[in-house]
Amino acid sequence: MNKLKAKKIKRHTLKTYEFWQLDEKFLLVWPDSKLLGQAGMEALPESKSGYLAYAYLQGPLQIAFLGQANPADSTYTYFETDAILVVPAASLPQLLVMPVKPTRELEAHPFVEQVLAAHAAQALERSTLALRSLDPLRQPDDPSVLIAAFIRDEAKKQKAYEEKGQEASEVPDSAITFVRIKDLKPANQGSWRAVLVDRLPGTRLKKKGDDVAISWVTVPGEEGEAVMLFVDHTAPLAGTDIHVTVHRPSRLPWRLAYELACGEGCPYHETFLLGRQGEDSALFKEILDSIRAGQADPLLLIEMVQCEDCQLDFSRELYRCRNCGNLEVMPRLRLISGDKTISSSYSCSQCGERMSQVKRNQIASLDCPECRKPLNLVSEKQWSGAL
Ligand SMILES: [Zn+2]
Ligand SMILES: [Zn+2]
Repeated sequence: MNKLKAKKIKRHTLKTYEFWQLDEKFLLVWPDSKLLGQAGMEALPESKSGYLAYAYLQGPLQIAFLGQANPADSTYTYFETDAILVVPAASLPQLLVMPVKPTRELEAHPFVEQVLAAHAAQALERSTLALRSLDPLRQPDDPSVLIAAFIRDEAKKQKAYEEKGQEASEVPDSAITFVRIKDLKPANQGSWRAVLVDRLPGTRLKKKGDDVAISWVTVPGEEGEAVMLFVDHTAPLAGTDIHVTVHRPSRLPWRLAYELACGEGCPYHETFLLGRQGEDSALFKEILDSIRAGQADPLLLIEMVQCEDCQLDFSRELYRCRNCGNLEVMPRLRLISGDKTISSSYSCSQCGERMSQVKRNQIASLDCPECRKPLNLVSEKQWSGAL
């Protein structure tokens, strides 16, 4: 029996969550007699204690049942079968669930690994799922599909743009059509693109299924600013490559190896190699490779594709989990584009909660992740070579 390091979260019914609160999350599911009576659920073994499930987007939100669980004490065991039952979340009755943030251990389940690999291959399309301002335009039953406005007549379109201070409903009905687009993603030079789900009326320039340029327009709405997307069927499509150069800070972060050990009776003993040496092309390449493999923070990825001349500042730094105290070395990434900077954020591989960077002057006063007693800084040395 495995145990989850779940933080106590209030239980909710599945349907009270937004898609982004559940995507790539694990769920502890309370037992429900209605669940097994549901059509298509015959394959699910009966469990009096409950289930461990995995929620993920594949078009609509899907729920995969991975094992039996006991939400009362956060324990679970995986089903001993390769045939994982997957059902669309929309087809399930009101289920009582507790979301559990992903950990390295949970993500090692073969089914989950497969989903995450498919998601990584779609990192660009999935990056815009992190933009909350687009939520009102997303189709609730399939968040990959959005509603965009289309104005065929260029003069009218120009006018609509100029009057973007107005609600879309104030643009004459005859001039504007709403169409569905999917897989909205960032493109070069600050642009956006998507795939047409519907036919565009009155033009043959773009067909259903074609890639099309999208303009992002911010309009004042009833509750603050709202976003409108316009299909720009005549605009050229921009590429989605990442062009970024190495930032040269005026002072490089020290390349130091910090050796930390716990006291008597606790085996914790780690050496953290931090910093960066000059251009550190090996580390820069490693970072770019992982970004291209779909491992980047979505907001960082969007900016990296859209910026025209941006620089990446990076360094190996120590991160600490705010919840469980886990310590890990991660590349601290800071994308500098004009006067804007975006920094990467990380989740703990042990419990899934947010990690924060440990400043160098705080390293000597850390607590042991295993027993919580103060750690001793055994040595602090320069290091060289690549890892
Ligand atoms: Zn943690
Ligand atoms: Zn310890």
